[in-house]
Amino acid sequence: KAAMEKILWQRSLQLRDQQHAWQDSPEGRKMLEFRKSLPAYKEKDAILTAISQNQVVIISGETGCGKTTQIPQFILESEIESVQGAGCSIICTQPRRISAMSVSERVASERGRNWVGYKVRLEGIKGRDTHLLFCTTGILLRRLLVDRNLKGITHVIVDEIHERGMNEDFLLIVIKDLLPRRPELRLILMSATLDAELFSSYFGGARILRIPEALRAADFKEYGSQTRESLSCWNPDCIGFNLIEYLLCNICENERPGAVLVFMTGWDDISSLKDKLLSHPILGDPSQVLLLACHGSMASSEQRLIFDEPKDGVRKIVLATNITETSITINDVVFVLDCGKAKETSYDALNNTPCLLPSWISKVSAQQRRGRAGRVQPGECYHLYPRCVYEAFAEYQLPEILRTPLQSLCLQIKSLKLRSISEFLSRALQSPELLAVQNAIEYLKIIGALDENENLTVLGRYLTMLPMEPKLGKMLVLGAIFNCLDPILTVVAGLSVRDPFLTPMDKKDLAEAAKSQFSRDYSDHLALVRAYEGWKDAERDFAGYDYCWKNFLSVQSMKAIDSLRKEFFTLLKDAGLVDSNTTICNAWSHEEHLIRSVICYGLYPGLSSVVHNEKSFSLKTMEDGQVLLYSNSVNARESKIPYPWLVFNEKIKVNAVFLRDSTAVSDSVLLLFGGSMSKGDIDGHLKMLGGYLEFFMKPAIAEMYQTLRRELDELIQT
Ligand code: ADP
Ligand code: MG
Repeated sequence: KAAMEKILWQRSLQLRDQQHAWQDSPEGRKMLEFRKSLPAYKEKDAILTAISQNQVVIISGETGCGKTTQIPQFILESEIESVQGAGCSIICTQPRRISAMSVSERVASERGRNWVGYKVRLEGIKGRDTHLLFCTTGILLRRLLVDRNLKGITHVIVDEIHERGMNEDFLLIVIKDLLPRRPELRLILMSATLDAELFSSYFGGARILRIPEALRAADFKEYGSQTRESLSCWNPDCIGFNLIEYLLCNICENERPGAVLVFMTGWDDISSLKDKLLSHPILGDPSQVLLLACHGSMASSEQRLIFDEPKDGVRKIVLATNITETSITINDVVFVLDCGKAKETSYDALNNTPCLLPSWISKVSAQQRRGRAGRVQPGECYHLYPRCVYEAFAEYQLPEILRTPLQSLCLQIKSLKLRSISEFLSRALQSPELLAVQNAIEYLKIIGALDENENLTVLGRYLTMLPMEPKLGKMLVLGAIFNCLDPILTVVAGLSVRDPFLTPMDKKDLAEAAKSQFSRDYSDHLALVRAYEGWKDAERDFAGYDYCWKNFLSVQSMKAIDSLRKEFFTLLKDAGLVDSNTTICNAWSHEEHLIRSVICYGLYPGLSSVVHNEKSFSLKTMEDGQVLLYSNSVNARESKIPYPWLVFNEKIKVNAVFLRDSTAVSDSVLLLFGGSMSKGDIDGHLKMLGGYLEFFMKPAIAEMYQTLRRELDELIQT
């Protein structure tokens, strides 16, 4: 032990020398000077004292005051100065991959590249001498799975806590449990705008620090939309592309240099606006404008392009969703355009149906969006909505835990070996509705991840190792077992990114026709597999771009699918479900019936029956009655579907309930692959599926099913 301590001590001395050497270098001095100009720096001593005296500290301050980049460094520096550097390990969580990566990059450059690293899913830079790690909240949660006490971690900083994502709320419950067991561990919660009292009382009256608003280093101008005459025709349902185009054009022609960041509602808006702008004489001219998009389902290498500086004389315009709303600094952004909307998921627990609708953002989000400009130089923000609309915005967004289905969360709770899910969730900052929790548990039982007593099954344990929706994980597991992994990887990756089949407004028919040439078997999922395989072939001849253009496919989505497939394969290897031998795990990859069955296995109980009438057919689910297909589904173009069932990936309530991405299956596939295949819970599934079959009046099949499943069960058990 003494020898260990001596090594630590020597290492700490080394760290201190390294730190001094950097601070004395010309570059280091310049950085330090800049850092000292930030409001957070003036509070350095107060912050460090508070952290040393309290186990939990809550820190708030204006956007751009230096919380994210400075506070982790204060802690690191003070540990190094007090010669405990080698023993300190600070984790700072970010809500998203892009912020974890970009913030760590910035902090590393402020520190002469010493001791700073990042980790996001399957990607990261982390070494033995990393003492400050930026990671996504999900990564810390996964670490908690294997290391309940966070051994060796000295400080946990949870940034942007106001976003109230599901993971952050989950993390807080777990850490709150942990604090008494690790009295020396420090927890720091940070945000620009936060309901500090709520968090403080959750942690038994934790210390709150506010970084006073200093004069902003950079000036700031704001325009409400009513100040511009062109906005008199403002229409709340249509975030005017014309208006955005007009403003962008005006900025390009008349304003000083500087990048523009446009906050849009979602991916569909971004791609339609991008198409529109590309045909504009100025905005679409690459020698004048660099037009970039940034949204959650893009590969991270592509997201990172938004930080690059354009060539001299070229103006960068970034069309982004709210993933760029917090934490990040894009150096050259001077102008922000905020449409005031975002796609928000909500959840109707009563009907067990998720909804996804564009809705107005909260005041907090508006402030964050504005805060992306004027960080490094004077900035301007155009709010594309009138003041009276802003006044009506909610103060905060409803926390995610209260507005999304809870299946993945419940599975994670179980993997922490916590006994009762409902008891655990009752200790959340704001607990979800009981019905929502029950629905999630019920779902996990139906898919065979939990047994009757809410314990993880073998399948459930594998699913906890695959960070994705349980149904997608389930498909991968079975794809690996049945050796048809290649197409299943494509299906699962395809369901994890934005729909790769594009439907531009003005070419809807052409686009739908293009999609239907990939379909032969009443399956959107198989159509995707074909489209992807075609793209891969075209890529080999360097014609991938043309191929996508001709077939109305998104190049970005194709690339994202490509990289996700690799990620998922690695995850399966890590879980011990496949070895690297791709020939074996693809022995049956050409068997379309098998692939269809595996898809059914994953998507069940997402099931609707096909009811034929004279000229066409209609669809019915047990919970919703009549449902419709999205018009871009290959099945929506058919007048007849020669199968009795459709399994679907997602149903969303907009005005009616719509099914997205479906695959037709036969009775026998449903009988054998609907529900779980784990031991012992057959009876539950008999009841469930029996209910379905009775509901749709197919008693004969129900009987056949019972025999078949019993036989199958015996087979599995032996
Ligand atoms: P906060 O978290 O309080 O919003 P940050 O710590 O992210 O603030 O950033 C503080 C300041 O540091 C910014 O206002 C900006 O001036 C500077 N900064 C941060 N990131 C970068 C970067 N990548 N490049 C240049 N300056 C940056
Ligand atoms: Mg920040």
